[in-house]
Amino acid sequence: MSSEKPKLPGSTDVVIVGAGIAGISAAWFLDKAGLRVVVCEKGVVAGEQSSRNWGWIRQQGRDQSELPIVMESMRLWQDIADELDTDIGYQREGSLYLCENDAELSRHQRFMSFAPAYGLTTSYVNRKQLETLMPDCPERWQSGLHTPDDGRAEPSLAVPAMAKTLRDRGAHVIENCAVEQVMMENRKVTGVLTEYGEIKASTVLCAGGAWSTFLLRGCGIRLPQLTVKASVARTAPVPLKFNGNASGSKVAFRRRLDGGYTVACSDYLEVLPSASHLGFARDFLPLIKTSFGKLKLRIPELKVDADFKRQRILNPIPTVATVARIKARLADRVPAFRGIELVEAWSGMIDALPDVVPVLDRVDGIDGLFISTGFSGHGFGIGPGAGKIVASLIQNNRVEYDLTRFRLTRFSDGSKLELGPAI
Ligand SMILES: Cc1cc2nc3c(=O)[nH]c(=O)nc-3n(C[C@H](O)[C@H](O)[C@H](O)COP(=O)(O)OP(=O)(O)OC[C@H]3O[C@@H](n4cnc5c(N)ncnc54)[C@H](O)[C@@H]3O)c2cc1C
Repeated sequence: MSSEKPKLPGSTDVVIVGAGIAGISAAWFLDKAGLRVVVCEKGVVAGEQSSRNWGWIRQQGRDQSELPIVMESMRLWQDIADELDTDIGYQREGSLYLCENDAELSRHQRFMSFAPAYGLTTSYVNRKQLETLMPDCPERWQSGLHTPDDGRAEPSLAVPAMAKTLRDRGAHVIENCAVEQVMMENRKVTGVLTEYGEIKASTVLCAGGAWSTFLLRGCGIRLPQLTVKASVARTAPVPLKFNGNASGSKVAFRRRLDGGYTVACSDYLEVLPSASHLGFARDFLPLIKTSFGKLKLRIPELKVDADFKRQRILNPIPTVATVARIKARLADRVPAFRGIELVEAWSGMIDALPDVVPVLDRVDGIDGLFISTGFSGHGFGIGPGAGKIVASLIQNNRVEYDLTRFRLTRFSDGSKLELGPAI
């Protein structure tokens, strides 16, 4: 990373903290609307979750309140892909949840109770249909849930390509520049204090992923957030004739642009709470109870706290045992993966909220402060839709979605939290 001191504009209309999919998508739509935008990133564009994820752009299995937003996001991904000079691999080849028995299939009933009303093409598929969708589909899978127009893109390419286009259009995306504090006067945002000095702005968007809780704490805001490590690998090219996203009870795989698959264990996540997260333990009890077995509590190997310069890029490392588990599971579940090399493995730190849906909101009582964070393991696909929403909120434009479920105050107004489908 360059050690050169970045040149900061003295003032702008909007400062965005964080250059992941949330921040860059918001910048995309604000820039299109003609606002001056500065994105400050403590590390590199998409250095954290947004380049490390599975790359699923899925409508299937979403929370009901997220569904219309992600449906719009599918269209926005296409528009964005058409405007970039890099092929980000955006394709709509579908998502498939693979089920071994009726009990597994019935878990999808809740989603199917509302999805068709939104015009979604999701359907239950039987064994015969599975064989058409995935030739040589292993026998253990007898049925599934399928959304043919779900999509995917390459996370390592997508957000960096968007940031490059933004820069080409004149927006500032400044890497290696941590925002240490949101500046306010009389509960009104006046800008940010970065490690290289101030940028004046009447509007700030917090899109800091796993770090958002600490930036907001500095503004007197409590956002209960947890860091959850998820490990992934990519394979060499595989002779499997399946071109979409698939997930069963123990494995997940998705076709890549390079002919390999991005692969993971679908039932293995590690919770790594720093000391500063312990105050949120109660908020997360319902999630931990329902995800018991999938979430493993671990001693944190990395510190995530208010020292934004400590880790320019949050880079958790998968253990040898975790990588071996992914390889063994795949070989066991899908014969086509037997003997196929895992070329690379990595981990990412998911920023989970207690009800596993994000906050998309303006902050009551602090004029000019907005939040887009807490996507809880599924923010890549919905990113452009969320970005368009917060860009509208910032411009005080009408938003056509009901954002009640995504309000910040749900964690403090005494309302009972309703758990979303999954991390
Ligand atoms: C392994 C894994 C698999 C996943 N699979 C999928 C999937 O298939 N589909 C899907 O939709 N989602 C998936 N997700 C979730 C998705 O990746 C995230 O929800 C999404 O990328 C979050 O984007 P973000 O912009 O909010 O956060 P991030 O991408 O984490 O970006 C936040 C950025 O803010 C910066 N930052 C923080 N604080 C400061 C500060 N004070 N100053 C300056 N910069 C700061 C950070 O350095 C970081 O770059 C997955 C996540 C993981 C980890």
